[in-house]
Amino acid sequence: MTAQLIDGTATAEQIRGEVTTEVKERVASGKIPPGLATVLVGDDPASHTYVRSKRKACAEAGIESFAFELPATSSQQEVEELVERLNADPRVNGILVQLPLPKGLDEERVLRAISIEKDVDGFHPMNIGRLAQKGRDPLFVPCTPSGVMYLIGSVLPSLEGANAVVLGRSNIVGMPVALLLVRANATVTICHSRSHDLPGITRQADVLVAAVGKPEMVRGDWVKPGAVVIDVGINRVEDASRPRGYRMVGDVSFDEVKEIAGYLTPVPGGVGPMTIAMLMSNTLRASRLSDH
Ligand code: NAP
Repeated sequence: MTAQLIDGTATAEQIRGEVTTEVKERVASGKIPPGLATVLVGDDPASHTYVRSKRKACAEAGIESFAFELPATSSQQEVEELVERLNADPRVNGILVQLPLPKGLDEERVLRAISIEKDVDGFHPMNIGRLAQKGRDPLFVPCTPSGVMYLIGSVLPSLEGANAVVLGRSNIVGMPVALLLVRANATVTICHSRSHDLPGITRQADVLVAAVGKPEMVRGDWVKPGAVVIDVGINRVEDASRPRGYRMVGDVSFDEVKEIAGYLTPVPGGVGPMTIAMLMSNTLRASRLSDH
C-alpha cells in the first residue's frame, strides 16, 4: 500500500472538541448557548437517521437543539412559516432544513426563506452565489464540501496551480467542492454523467474528489500515482458475509486505489464524520455572528 489514509474520524473529533470548548467558554461568560433548529419534513428513513445524529452531536457540543418534525403532507406555506418563526427566534442561531424535501415542496423557495445569517447548511442561493463570485465571501460554506476541503488541506497545504478533478456536479457536494477548489487556486475540471473518457481525465488529477454515488467506480488505473483522493460516496452493497447482509463502500475502489494514490480517505471514517463536525462549527460561527 502506498497511500497514507486521511483519518476523517480523528479530524472530526478534534474539530468537535474545539467547538465544545468554545461553546463552554461562551456560556461561562454569560452568553446563551448556540442553538440549532433542525426541520425534518416527511418520513424518509435516511433523513431521520441524519437528523438524529446531528441532534446528538449538538447535545455533545453543548449546542441547544430545537427539533421540528412536519408531516410529508405539509404545505409550502406551513414549512415557510416555520422557517420565518425560527428566523425571528433569538435562541436559534442556525436553521437546517433536511433535504431532500418531499415531492411537491419547492426546495429553493424554502432555502431562500432562511435568513442568510442562520444558513448553517450554506445552501441559501445568496451564500452559494457568493461562493461562486470572485471577491465575495459566503457567510457559510456547505458542510460536506467544507469537510472535503479541510481534509485536503490537512495533507496539501497549497492547492495553487494543482490539477483538481471533481466527479459529480450536485448542488450539495460536487458543485460547491469545485467552487471551493477554484477559490483555492486549483485548476478544476468537473465531470458528470455526460462526460467522456473519465479515466483519461481523472489520471491528470493531483487532487481527485469522487461524489457520484456509484459504488467503487474509480478504479486503480484512473488515478495518478501519488494523487490525493477524497471519496465522498456512501453506498450500500450486498455482502452475505456481513451480519447485516451489506457493507458500506465509497465511490472509489479502496483496495485498488490505495496502491496508487498518495493520500486516500476511507469509507466509512473519511468525509462522513466531517459533515457533522462542520455543521457544529458553522452553528458556533452563527452564534458568534449574532454577537454583533
Ligand atoms: P447526486 O445528487 O446523485 O449527484 C451525483 C452526481 O454524479 C451527478 O452530478 C451525476 O451527473 C454524477 N454521476 C452519476 N453517475 C455518473 C457516472 N457514471 N459518471 C460520471 N458522473 C456520474 O449525489 P450527491 O448528493 O452529490 O452524493 C454523491 C455521493 O456522496 C453519494 O454516494 C452520497 O451518498 C454521498 N454523500 C456523502 C455525504 C457525506 O457526508 N459523506 C454527503 C452527501 C452525499 P449528472 O449531473 O449528469 O446527473
